[in-house]
Amino acid sequence: MTHDFYSDTKTKPSAAMREVVLTCTVGDEQKDEDPTTRELCARVAELLGKDEAVFLPSGTMCNEIAISVHSNPGDEVICSSTSHIVNFETGGPAALSSVMIRTLSGDLGIFDEQQVAQAIRPPSRYAPRSTLLSVEQTSNMGGGAVWPVARLAAVAQVAKDANLRTHMDGARLMNAVVATGVDAAAHAAQYDSVWVDFTKGLGAPVGAVLAGSADFIHEAWRVKQRLGGAMRQSGIVASMCLYALDHNVERLVQDHELAADLGARIGALPGVHTVLPVETNIILFDLVDGAPSAASVVESLARDDVLIGAFGERRIRVVTHLDVNPVSGDLLIDRLTHHLSA
Ligand SMILES: *Cc1c(COP(=O)(O)O)cnc(C)c1O
Repeated sequence: MTHDFYSDTKTKPSAAMREVVLTCTVGDEQKDEDPTTRELCARVAELLGKDEAVFLPSGTMCNEIAISVHSNPGDEVICSSTSHIVNFETGGPAALSSVMIRTLSGDLGIFDEQQVAQAIRPPSRYAPRSTLLSVEQTSNMGGGAVWPVARLAAVAQVAKDANLRTHMDGARLMNAVVATGVDAAAHAAQYDSVWVDFTKGLGAPVGAVLAGSADFIHEAWRVKQRLGGAMRQSGIVASMCLYALDHNVERLVQDHELAADLGARIGALPGVHTVLPVETNIILFDLVDGAPSAASVVESLARDDVLIGAFGERRIRVVTHLDVNPVSGDLLIDRLTHHLSA
């Protein structure tokens, strides 16, 4: 058996989740005639406190569509240097929307109002136009760090005061909701667009839902059609997303507890330099100089059927989710101890 801590995307739909597919009602999603997809969008719009929502194949498409709708060619998007749109979308903002990106540094992917204020360009004949601020809740490359809700509101306010739009990459927003006890709509209140991923900790096989005003969603649909993201009987997968909403949100607390426990134990291992604060389900840690490289540790553990990720020369990522448990956690610590002491 494989113990896969590489990512929360590795979850496989449970038997109960697969069951709901058999009885869901379906129609042509591209014509907005799929009742199950419509129900999912209505529920997510309500959850996120927005007028409307649209079902998409992936979170990446949510980000790219939002950037496209909110900006014009030559505009500038402000976001963290660690963000998914900068590092993992194959240059999508440049390729699909012809925008520039202004990256901000900041502790664990979280920046502040002053940084945003300084990054916004005054109107000028020469400069690109700053049009969009994007934040990631939680911050993936920040080790699952959670933006405090007040900070989310403060950076958005600075952006709005300068006429920028605001976008939230909420791939793991529900982890932040469970970790803080603050509902999703409050996190997203100051954001013009926001989405949640169903294929991370929520455990569904396909799908993400992007929400915003009716006007925003109207435009988002046009880009979805352009990119080939419009579907047919998508209730087949949307039904599993609905199942995830009903069954897999509150339990995220178990993933956070396991991650906190593993983070503390990893911090005590020989060869481990630092563990980033563990706030949700992601553990990022750095090995000391002279320790085996992250890649070689990852390779050694893989031979023992324990999968983790190398995210830098000496940086390793471990992610907890539905398909791992404290027993696999014990095995992970055992194998890490073995390979780091070797
Ligand atoms: C996974 C992820 C995405 C992209 O979502 P996909 O569904 O994999 O396309 C975007 N942003 C963050 C922070 C992510 O972790």
